[in-house]
Amino acid sequence: MGKSKVKQSLPLHKVIMVGSGGVGKSALTLQYMYGDFVEEYDPTKADSYRKKIVLDHEECQIDILDTAGQEEYAAIRDNYYRSGEGFLCVFSLCEKGTLDLTEEIRDQILRVLDDETIPFILVGNKSDLAHLRTVDKKDAQELADKWRCPYIETSAKTRTNVDETYVELLRKIKARKVQQNLQNSPDKDSCCIIL
Ligand code: GDP
Ligand code: MG
Repeated sequence: MGKSKVKQSLPLHKVIMVGSGGVGKSALTLQYMYGDFVEEYDPTKADSYRKKIVLDHEECQIDILDTAGQEEYAAIRDNYYRSGEGFLCVFSLCEKGTLDLTEEIRDQILRVLDDETIPFILVGNKSDLAHLRTVDKKDAQELADKWRCPYIETSAKTRTNVDETYVELLRKIKARKVQQNLQNSPDKDSCCIIL
């Protein structure tokens, strides 16, 4: 009983996977969650996952919502977005069109959340398929610079940069919560304001 109480009180960080179909949202999620590369995962299946992790010496829980085709329905999509504290916006390095689509996805997210400071990382996936690559690093980096967010290249197959990407997003989510707590409770003992 004591144990579950502790678990309940752990900070929870909510991550949403977004991006076109087939870019590797599920593969990245499953690789991060279970350390396994899943070749075939139902492309229409949206699912959520939770695990306990240690982030910079602090125990917390990560909740990942792996979105799928239902985002076509604006109401469902917007509800997903509203529940997010951070976004991994994935495209495939082998399909230029999926990078172009990230602009539309980011617009939709910002329309719902109306907050450009929402933690967000642009993720170019399938870096192991170097011979099939059609997206220049420069183009993706330019887009990320415009959005003032990080750009990371990953491979869900070889696990390259997978943990790093989630950890970077989690750090941003955590830092933002600290910032918001400071802003919302200026009279708390824990907060020292120097005038
Ligand atoms: P989703 O629709 O965005 O969830 O995409 P999936 O995770 O289902 O991946 C679509 C296809 O791309 C699957 O056949 C995966 O095995 C493959 N895939 C995903 N990530 C990678 C990767 O990093 N490298 C390679 N070579 N294939 C990948
Ligand atoms: Mg999927």
